Parts: sequence; structure tokens; C-alpha cells
Amino acid sequence: MNKASKEDLKKDKKIEEEKPIVPAHTEQRRGMQRPPEEEEEDIRARAPIALVVRSPRGMQDVLWDDMRYWDIVSDTFKQVATSFNMKKVSVPVVEEAALFERSIGETTDVVEKEMFFVKDRSGTTRLALRPEFTAGVARAYLEHGMSSKPQPVRMWYQGPVFRHDRPQAGRYRQLTQFGVEVIGEAHSIIDVQVIHLAYEAYKALQLDAFRIDINSVGCLNKTCRPAYINSLKKHAQDNTRKLCVDCKRRSKVNPLRIFDCKEEKCQVVANLAPKITEHLCEQCKEHYQNVLRYLQDLGIPFRENARLVRGLDYYTRTAFEIISTLPATDPLSGLALGGGGRYDDLIQLLGGPATPAIGFSGGVERTIMQMKAEGVEVKNNDMPDVFLAHLGDLGRRRAVKLLDDLRRSGFRVAEAFHKDGIKAQLRNADRVKVQWTLILGQKEALDNTIILRNMESGMQETLDLNLDSLVPALKKRLHKEILTSHT
Ligand SMILES: [Zn+2]
Ligand SMILES: [Zn+2]
Repeated sequence: MNKASKEDLKKDKKIEEEKPIVPAHTEQRRGMQRPPEEEEEDIRARAPIALVVRSPRGMQDVLWDDMRYWDIVSDTFKQVATSFNMKKVSVPVVEEAALFERSIGETTDVVEKEMFFVKDRSGTTRLALRPEFTAGVARAYLEHGMSSKPQPVRMWYQGPVFRHDRPQAGRYRQLTQFGVEVIGEAHSIIDVQVIHLAYEAYKALQLDAFRIDINSVGCLNKTCRPAYINSLKKHAQDNTRKLCVDCKRRSKVNPLRIFDCKEEKCQVVANLAPKITEHLCEQCKEHYQNVLRYLQDLGIPFRENARLVRGLDYYTRTAFEIISTLPATDPLSGLALGGGGRYDDLIQLLGGPATPAIGFSGGVERTIMQMKAEGVEVKNNDMPDVFLAHLGDLGRRRAVKLLDDLRRSGFRVAEAFHKDGIKAQLRNADRVKVQWTLILGQKEALDNTIILRNMESGMQETLDLNLDSLVPALKKRLHKEILTSHT
């Protein structure tokens, strides 16, 4: 993975577009007739398809061109999480709806408007597709008695979550999240470790255009958030005529949500609102100051943001977001790539003992959009090393065996054994843009040799078919360093 400028990427794309699909050295270009089997193939490919069913709204297929970005995000997060000594867990895609209603909060957008409900056949259980991971992981912590293990328990995960939102740039109804939950410790250093991990993950993906926003949302002690909510309610009611219809309602039930409103007039009111950090109780204030100090010690840049409250009810104390700082012209600009925070009351809310915890999660789709916008180039590892062509029946029989030997020796081999004609096979080799082709004919099979053809130059040479000499000869020419074999 290396980073190229946007201009370079555009240039590359242009070159790719201009490149003829069939290189000049194929037989067809020299004016020879195409064999009938290819005609058939092309007609089939162009036949119109009347699609009866399409993918659900806001849900997407990911094919191989994009999959290399998915793989790199997935591998990198695994690597970073593991380096922070996190263990991987997996929780069900479906949970009882009550789990999310109780934990995330019934008056939040996520539960109120965005949850996907699932009918089970008995009709007695209300199920929902998970809109996030924290509630499920917290439930698993309780259900498996993890409080008896050494604390805190550090877990990471990755998988799809579902939100019935209006699909738009970077917002899908099925989106993929990666994240961590650290359950069982209240110390501020844990908050810093989680923020550090998130920071390292984006840095490891070679991203630069992001910042960390941080805030404290206090605790449930009367003198802390409840007191703040009262003063916020008062502020909202004093300005009620300046608020949108939604926020008018919110200001009575859950005034913190005014901070999330996209309406400009509501943002004006929110900007003038009292700051929660000025209302924190002594313990929350100290916790917050410690978090900021450890972040400074580690050299992790951050910005205090008094308006950052996160959309979910269960957050306490530290809340943070990774915000894209791409130019305003980019659809991702100002949006969160990921975020997290403390949820010291959640485990208790789910029926467990008082257990402090903190987590972070990021969105794979947005992270990939950010990588592309920043020009992070991901190498295509999906190319075969060599194409194996055959001539005649004996050639094919030897080639089938050879393919398996080469595969075990660590080569990725493309072939078209289902085709008879060498021309058709070479056209196939051109299409997969492979640089080297091995040709095994009747004569070669009898001589125990094989032809290696450079597809760019058209140069050919004869190699020994014995594996002991063929494998090193191929490795040398392909500049391939194969450290592992698949036997
Ligand atoms: Zn407090
Ligand atoms: Zn509003």
C-alpha cells in the first residue's frame, strides 16, 4: 500500500481506460478468424438481463475491485487491535429488541426510527437486527460471567450492523463496523488506550485528514449530568421559538439531542447553550482532565468539543469521535468516521453489577471512502502469477497435474482447461492481463519440457518440466518470493 496523489490516480485510471482490451500481439489482431466458441461467449455476455430482484435499498454488494480495500481495513484493524492485546468476539446479528431499547434508549433516533425488526415464526419474541455492537457485547459479557475473569476484559469485533436510515453518501442500511469494548475498569488510562487504538488504526491505514474530537458527558450523579440537562432544558425553552419542530419536542424529553440536529437555526441555539464540561461533578472533572493529560503525554492530537454528546443514551464521561477533515467539497467532510465513549451504567442497566466500560467503533464504508479521497493506494493482490495453457489431450492431462503441483508450490495459476484451442486460451490469458504463460503441448509432454512465454514481448523459452527445476526457474523469472507453500 503506498500513497499516490489524486492526480496520479486519475492519470492511472485514464491509462487503464485507454488501454485496448485485446493487446496487439494476439492472433485476432493479426487478422485471423476467431474460433466459434468465443463468438458464443461474447453474445452470452451481452444478452440483456431482466433483473427480477435487486439488492435491498441501502445495501450493497462488494466485488473484487473494492474488496482489496475491505481486506486491508479488516486486516489492519485486526493487527492494531491485537497489538493492544484485544481478543476477538462475535455476537449475533439478531438480538431481542428489548436489549437495544433498554441500552441505547427508546427516545434515540437509532431505536425510534432506524431499527430493523425481525419476525420470528412463533411471533412471541420481538427481535431486531443489531444497529450497533456495544449492547450485544455487553450482554455477552454478562451472559458468560466474564466479570469473574481478570478485569478489564478487552474485546474487538467486526461485522455488519443495520440502520433503517435514508441512504446517502457514506450512509448505508447495512454497514460494516469494526470496534473494541473494554469492560470492567473505570480508570482514565483505559479511555486513553481505546482512543489511542482508534488513532493508530486510522494512522495505520495511512489516513491523515481526520481529527479527534473529545468531550465529557458527565455521570448520572444529581450534581453532574442531570443538573446540566436542567440548565440545557431551560436554555432550549428560552429559545424554543428558534428551534425546529423535532427539537421543540426533544427539548422536553432529551435536550442533548439538539446538538445532533442538522438544522442551522438549531445549531445556533446549540452553540450558545451552556457547556457540559462546566457542569461536571468533581470526579468527572478529574477523570476528564486525566484523559486529556495522558493523551498529551502520548502525543495524540485532539480537539475539545463541548457539543459532542453522541446520539446514544448509555454514554457517560468520555465521548469522542474521529471526524473527517477532508475539504468541504467532499461528501465525507465533517462526518464521523468512528466514535466511542464510556458507558459505566450500561451493564447495570442490563441487570448486571455496576461495571464501568468503554468502547469504540468505526465504519468500514466511510473509512474506505476516506482512503480513496486521500489517495491511499491499495495494491491489487488478486492477479494470477502465471497462465497455464495446454495443447492436445496429452498436454491437457499433464497440465491438470502440473497446475496442482504449481498451486502447492505457492503459485496462483490461471487456466482455461475447458477450452481446446490454444488461441482461445491465449485470448483468455490476455484478458486476465497475466504477464507469463506456460504452454504444455503434446511434444513438450513427451520431451518433459514446457514453454514459457512473456505475454508482453512475445519472447518464448523452453524450460525443464521437472518440478525441482521448473519451480526455481519460474520464481526467478516472476521475481516471486514464495515463503509459504500450500501443502
Ligand atoms: Zn459526574
Ligand atoms: Zn432541530
